[in-house]
Amino acid sequence: MSETIFSRIINREIPADIVHEDEQCLAFRDINPQAPVHILIIPKKAIATVNDLTEDDEKTVGHLYVVAARIAKQEGIAEDGFRTAMNCNEHGGQSVYHIHLHLLGGKAMGWPPFPNG
Ligand code: 5GP
Repeated sequence: MSETIFSRIINREIPADIVHEDEQCLAFRDINPQAPVHILIIPKKAIATVNDLTEDDEKTVGHLYVVAARIAKQEGIAEDGFRTAMNCNEHGGQSVYHIHLHLLGGKAMGWPPFPNG
């Protein structure tokens, strides 16, 4: 897999506003936030897309959600609620090919995402 901007953030080759780090993952604020709180939680293991996940990754991906819940509490958005999303490939709107969980909150979000089709 070719290196992405997110590998470079993990390796501290480019800066990011990091809010959490542990052995398995890194979380940092999105550079182009789509909500008052918009944080990306990424595994340190470089996995390109959700399509590439295997059973070996179950613990890693589960951990991203546990960390998302923790950060949501820290950011004060847990009670009102928030959105998590992991986009896959072109139709999913993926632009960086290193899986990442979006954590979005601080305002009410619509559902379905494209009500007019
Ligand atoms: P995707 O479209 O792949 O689901 O989400 C990629 C996200 O990464 C986008 O929301 C985009 O704003 C964010 N992003 C892209 N490059 C950078 C960067 O260099 N730093 C940070 N913090 N976020 C980035």
